[in-house]
Amino acid sequence: MITTEVKGLVIRTVDIRESDRLITVFTAEMGVVNAVAKGARSLKSRYMSSTMQFCYSSFVLYRRGEHYWIKEAELIESFFGIRNTIEGLALSAYIADVLCDVTVAEAETDLLRLSLNSLYAIAEGKHSLEKIKAAFEIRASSIIGFMPDAVSCHLCGERMGNFYFDIMGGSLTCYSCNEKSVEERLEIENPHESRIICILTEGAKMALGYCVYSPIEKIFSFKISDEDMSLLARAAEEYITNQLERSFKTLQFYKEVKR
Ligand SMILES: [Zn+2]
Repeated sequence: MITTEVKGLVIRTVDIRESDRLITVFTAEMGVVNAVAKGARSLKSRYMSSTMQFCYSSFVLYRRGEHYWIKEAELIESFFGIRNTIEGLALSAYIADVLCDVTVAEAETDLLRLSLNSLYAIAEGKHSLEKIKAAFEIRASSIIGFMPDAVSCHLCGERMGNFYFDIMGGSLTCYSCNEKSVEERLEIENPHESRIICILTEGAKMALGYCVYSPIEKIFSFKISDEDMSLLARAAEEYITNQLERSFKTLQFYKEVKR
């Protein structure tokens, strides 16, 4: 029997047959992997705790037919604290949902690290969920291949002041360059061209840049005012959903319970 060893985050589980569990694992080595955990729902099972959703575990897998099967599994981290609040659990489900959608090879190691750090932060409760969510959305987009130009105005290089963040283009425009381009656009306005623009203050723009470039272990360690945080949160959510060109039911659920 040829076996494969992987470490991964269980992002989805489906109960199958009497006591089996089909799990979807996000791994650094193989990306998204589906595997059957035989008897995992039985109380006597060795796999019960290591194959639950949001658990980070090491697995020994083997291939039989169309599926991978779990030969051995050992829990590394359960992120138990994410279950303390419905909001924390909802945000974790959204993060897992984003991972399910990713098919970019070579990005998995960083994306897994970012996700584990995010779940850890939710479980610890030391940072606001709004901050964790925004930082995750911005950095995940960047890792997947949609890194925004978050440093300066893409037309003149200005770094200070308020900015217009073009969600589809991932670029910043300063106030004065935007005034100029609005005047020019009036003459060549195309009604079919729609742009989504989020306004970012200097503080929100700095935080955007921090989320793109900071070491992943320190990604939540930035100071931001409540007002700037709201602007960043809106921009981050618009950015990831538009770049991935989809919406998430788990995101809607998170927003409902957060209200
Ligand atoms: Zn400019």
